[in-house]
Amino acid sequence: MSQPYDRVFNFSAGPCTLPVSVLEEVRDDLLNWKGSGMSVMEMSHRGKHFEGIVAAAEARLRALMGIPNAYKVLFLQGGASLQNTMAPMNLLAGGSADYVVTGAWSKKSFEMGSLVGGAKCVWDGKANNYSSLPDLGSLEYSAGAAYVHFTTNETIHGVQFHGDPKLRATVVCDMSSDIVSRPVDVSRYAMIYAGAQKNMGPAGATVVIIHEDLLARTPEKFHPMLDYRLQAENGSLYNTPPCFSIYVCGLVYKWIQDLGGLSAIQAINERKAKAIYDAVDANSGFYQAHAQPEARSQMNVTFRLPSDELTDAFVKEAKALKLDGLKGHRSVGGIRASIYNAFPEEGCKVLAAFMKEFAAKNG
Ligand code: PMP
Repeated sequence: MSQPYDRVFNFSAGPCTLPVSVLEEVRDDLLNWKGSGMSVMEMSHRGKHFEGIVAAAEARLRALMGIPNAYKVLFLQGGASLQNTMAPMNLLAGGSADYVVTGAWSKKSFEMGSLVGGAKCVWDGKANNYSSLPDLGSLEYSAGAAYVHFTTNETIHGVQFHGDPKLRATVVCDMSSDIVSRPVDVSRYAMIYAGAQKNMGPAGATVVIIHEDLLARTPEKFHPMLDYRLQAENGSLYNTPPCFSIYVCGLVYKWIQDLGGLSAIQAINERKAKAIYDAVDANSGFYQAHAQPEARSQMNVTFRLPSDELTDAFVKEAKALKLDGLKGHRSVGGIRASIYNAFPEEGCKVLAAFMKEFAAKNG
């Protein structure tokens, strides 16, 4: 079945596929947004049109995730990477934080945290190349840790925590690659951050959901752009925000709401991931999943083939079928199928059928 506008099935890890209906709406409003006489890219971030856009985006995200009133929602810049620096700068208050290292991204968080101040790694999955996850409830955390940091979904290794942590500690969480892909209990986290460019919209905006109690930890007379308190006081408009990205995120939130919200998108995401994992398991002599079964990601499916030559042939033949962006990250090798919210279910079925054929031919 051909895709609208002759598009490929885009398995990229982010930036990645956006919903076609959202792209169509953006196209239709591009030159003159809702009769304003200008595009969203051209309007003042201090004007009433953009104020409405940012307020709608925030309101929809709050509704989708059930974000309690005690949390601020910020749309910042600098990607999730800057949050790895901003979080310790604001929240350490001279103390030290614990880090759970489950893959490439939480390792970076730990390394960046170490540059700022006290940082302790309380678990590291390196020995088995980050294919399994610990039980967060039974790790030993430092008494008096400023916070515990973990990453819900490791985009490169394809491991994902299922369910919210039930910790007494202050939990800071990188949710970059699975935010709004399933329901979460926000009250289990003190702070959640995520770059927009996987499940929410185009690159540019970084969402920070932070409990207002944490804002008191920011040192006095702090760097304004790195100051959560100042950003919160200014409602994400301290300086010029990533206007276009915020606008599209708002449309994507609406798209998820119209589908039935996070439980509905979770059900679809589970079916999508299952189609591919089933193809891996049904041909387990040929494909080998990277993640342990209980740690498998619903967002990034990682698996290997028997050789690099076969992996290259797989990627090439897949591309000819418009299955694009499947080559795995060099640190894991093999194949990575990133299947975020907007990735069509049909594409997972096409990939699964191709995997079966490819294994039969080359196995
Ligand atoms: N954390 C995770 C889990 C990621 O997947 C990524 C990007 N792939 C990052 C952090 C870094 O995000 P950014 O490029 O927005 O800084």
